[in-house]
Amino acid sequence: MQITAAVLHEPQGQLSFQTLELEAPRPREIRVRLFATGVCHTDISVMGRPFPVPQPIVLGHEGVGIVESVGSAVTKVKAGDRVVLSYNFCGECVSCQRHASSYCQYFFGHNFLGQRRDGSTALSYEGQPVRHQFFGQSSFATHCLCSENNAVKIPNSVPDEIFELLGPLGCGIQTGAGAVINVLKPQIGESFVVFGAGAVGMAGLMAAKAVGAAIRIAVDKVPERLKLATELGATHTIVADGQTDVVALIRDITGGGANCSLDTTAVSSVLRQALDCLGSLGRCGFVGGAPAGTTLEVDVRDMMLSGKTLRGIVEGDANADTFIPDLIRMQAQGNFPFEKLMKIYPFDAIKQAMEDSKSGVTVKPVLRMPAG
Ligand SMILES: [Zn+2]
Ligand SMILES: [Zn+2]
Repeated sequence: MQITAAVLHEPQGQLSFQTLELEAPRPREIRVRLFATGVCHTDISVMGRPFPVPQPIVLGHEGVGIVESVGSAVTKVKAGDRVVLSYNFCGECVSCQRHASSYCQYFFGHNFLGQRRDGSTALSYEGQPVRHQFFGQSSFATHCLCSENNAVKIPNSVPDEIFELLGPLGCGIQTGAGAVINVLKPQIGESFVVFGAGAVGMAGLMAAKAVGAAIRIAVDKVPERLKLATELGATHTIVADGQTDVVALIRDITGGGANCSLDTTAVSSVLRQALDCLGSLGRCGFVGGAPAGTTLEVDVRDMMLSGKTLRGIVEGDANADTFIPDLIRMQAQGNFPFEKLMKIYPFDAIKQAMEDSKSGVTVKPVLRMPAG
């Protein structure tokens, strides 16, 4: 069948809208008609720097839509099911078997190679292959093929106006909320600091409030974002203006150091602050796509004597099949208002949506696909 997609032809190139040919699903694949997709920072960073993703490729990895057809071996979903798409994984390696599928040993191959395991692509333009299955989906398109592993079924009881906003739960929102709920686990009354008040950081902040962290500090360079952070539950905000001693201020606010911190910036100097602002037995988590080879200098003696933990986190350690429905229930109860981060753009305004994400005007752009 023919689909419309935003195609990236070369690193640092512009996206162009093209009509492509999409194959029918193979036995273990499903075809989804996309209703909407979030724009994630990973999409933007992949476009902007050398990255091992062959081009041309269709990016996009926060899709939500309806299953149109399924391969003969698919059992998890059927045509007509509403689904959110998350990252892909093999489901069979040691990591996947232990329910830590975001650390799948074959994560790279399933999410970044842009082709099936046998080297074929389901997408093409005038007979030439177009890479897809970015994060197992490639959702900057009207339709995509994915595996049943990375499709999360959404109950029909979820209202349509919320349903079309659910795509980012498959990556950015799950990453921030999962880091807090599944890994850092702030206890009632504890303190939590988030560095970077983008979509991931805001999701972490809302989650920290939902689980009862009493002191919730947001740090960002952009004062406008901190206003929204306050609205979403920050008890304190700090503008990282280069003058303020952020670590000293946090130690002061928390009475000697924070219990938990989350770095979402992937900048080493900021991650070091996230570690240094902790008190005894503090837990620091970090997410985000730091360039390969990025290093961090750590005060080993301080870490040991204060019993600190530093933990890298992928996709919030979340099992998307259970975690995304949990987040939807929290939203329905008013405890996780992720809709406040989002703004809808038409699909053909994708460039504007990316610009607004980069400048911080919009925390989380969501592209609405043309009805089809
Ligand atoms: Zn695996
Ligand atoms: Zn992402």
